[in-house]
Amino acid sequence: MLFGLLFGVLMLGINGGKVVIQNWINPFGIIFINLLKLIAIPLILASIIKGISDLKDIAKFKVIGLRSVILFVITTIMAISIGLVLVNIFSPGKGISPETITRITNDFASDQGVQSKLAEASLQKESGPLQFLVDMVPDNAFNAMSDNKLMLQVIFFSVFLGVSMLLIEEERAKPLKMLFDSLNDAVLKMVDLIMKTAPLAVFALLANVVVSSGDSDLLLALVKYAGVVILGLFLMIVFYCVVLVLVTGKNPFWFLKILSPAQLLAFSTSSSAATLPITMERVENHLGVDKEVSSFVLPVGATINMDGTSLYQGVAAVFISQALGHHLEITDQLIIILTALLASIGSAAVPGAGMVMLVIVLESIGFPSDKLAVGLALIFAVDRPLDMLRTVVNVTGDAMVSMVVAKSIGKLHDMPNNGNLN
Ligand code: ASP
Repeated sequence: MLFGLLFGVLMLGINGGKVVIQNWINPFGIIFINLLKLIAIPLILASIIKGISDLKDIAKFKVIGLRSVILFVITTIMAISIGLVLVNIFSPGKGISPETITRITNDFASDQGVQSKLAEASLQKESGPLQFLVDMVPDNAFNAMSDNKLMLQVIFFSVFLGVSMLLIEEERAKPLKMLFDSLNDAVLKMVDLIMKTAPLAVFALLANVVVSSGDSDLLLALVKYAGVVILGLFLMIVFYCVVLVLVTGKNPFWFLKILSPAQLLAFSTSSSAATLPITMERVENHLGVDKEVSSFVLPVGATINMDGTSLYQGVAAVFISQALGHHLEITDQLIIILTALLASIGSAAVPGAGMVMLVIVLESIGFPSDKLAVGLALIFAVDRPLDMLRTVVNVTGDAMVSMVVAKSIGKLHDMPNNGNLN
């Protein structure tokens, strides 16, 4: 990671260095992310179906499902609240002068990146309030599996099939179970092989991030905003550690150290979905969470539990309102909690998805639509680094929830280096 950053900085200083990285280094990063995405759908399918059908009875599934969803909601509300408190205390948006706003409007609001986020968001919002439920239920399982963006549909199908396998005679379910068991083993081997190339891929990804980030003076104006998001994300990690100590009695530094390869990958790829295979490997093999729990909690968490994203959406919505003079009542801030909760559930686990859903949060508080592009343009320059950091929090939150759920049903195993505090 460090070599990648340094190499990127070095190449920025050399004439034509940027092109060299983009043409000769970046492709290896893209191949690595493609490989991780390639196995995401088979992994979800195999691990959820295997996980549920291993449970042997449906009551256990209900307990795991209910507890994890409740924890997902609580941690997300906590995250948004932390973000809102901080952004109201520090008011980062109030420091931006009207001249800068005019310049951003002229320079960036028609920028292609901003416009494509707006276009994606308008597709999302044309639908009714229950559309997200409709979207969750595929009308064709193979269609769902053909598109990584339809991960929630694949989860739905896998849970449905897994539960049905539990409900038929054990003998009859056996052949299917063996099939998915062995698919699961093979996919985990693929993860293992892909991860052998991780150091080089991380180098390539980070070198490219350095040469692709903007160098505008807007970066300086945004330091305070980014600082608030980063402080909030840090507090969220502290919150996870406190919960972890209270519920499981584990050493939080042990937890963070063991999880660090997954966090590093989340940082490099900005995608919880691409990181999922490694999160599962760390949580199951090193943190001691039983596969019965992790095989359900982690894929579902990667898709719907995004604490870092929701925190960022809360902060960004208030920051943009402050900067563009859109007054927010306390009720608006409550609306932000609700919509950021839904928006983070609806955000795909891929780079930049949180920003698309931010548009919906802004609209829910009556933000004028003609200023939306300016609002997004305002934060665009720092979105990538913040995306990298919030994805780390998203992944850490999923791991923490899986440990807490596992502990609550006696499925948190002691590992050789068990991390117990006493
Ligand atoms: N990149 C984030 C993730 O995959 C989503 C987002 O906040 O944009 O978890």
